[in-house]
Amino acid sequence: MTSNLKFIVDINVGKLAKWLRMMGYDALSFDGSDDGQMVAMALAEGRVILTRDTQIVRRRVVTNGQLKAILIQSDEPEQQMRQVVETLTLDCQFRPFTVCLECNQLLEKRSKQEVQARVPPYVFKTQGQYMECPSCHRIYWRGTHWEAMTKKLKKLMKS
Ligand SMILES: [Zn+2]
Repeated sequence: MTSNLKFIVDINVGKLAKWLRMMGYDALSFDGSDDGQMVAMALAEGRVILTRDTQIVRRRVVTNGQLKAILIQSDEPEQQMRQVVETLTLDCQFRPFTVCLECNQLLEKRSKQEVQARVPPYVFKTQGQYMECPSCHRIYWRGTHWEAMTKKLKKLMKS
């Protein structure tokens, strides 16, 4: 069930967006300055707000339970992520490789042939699975950066 959760990530905890997308969650970054707009978006789209702003969690829509908002305690991204995982008891069976880390779009599968001209020859030779973001057209594959991130995430979930 928790995999259906959607988030809106305040700019003051912006790093959480990438982590959540890495786990396969729909995590929208909010970089505006109008809290009211963020609250309205969260309500309209059924998103959980992640923020360090105490004003937001004091709002009536949050205190009466209409809107879920988590007040993040730590300055440190790994601690922040741990708090989110624990508070919502997020599923450890995360689905990396499904959401674009940059723009939060669902990735689409691409065949090797389709990406041949767009990835480095070494990658083409060694990787078989590719995904493309329909919005920014980044190509994703299970390279070293991806592996480093999942390793970090797994460690975070265990401890
Ligand atoms: Zn993208």
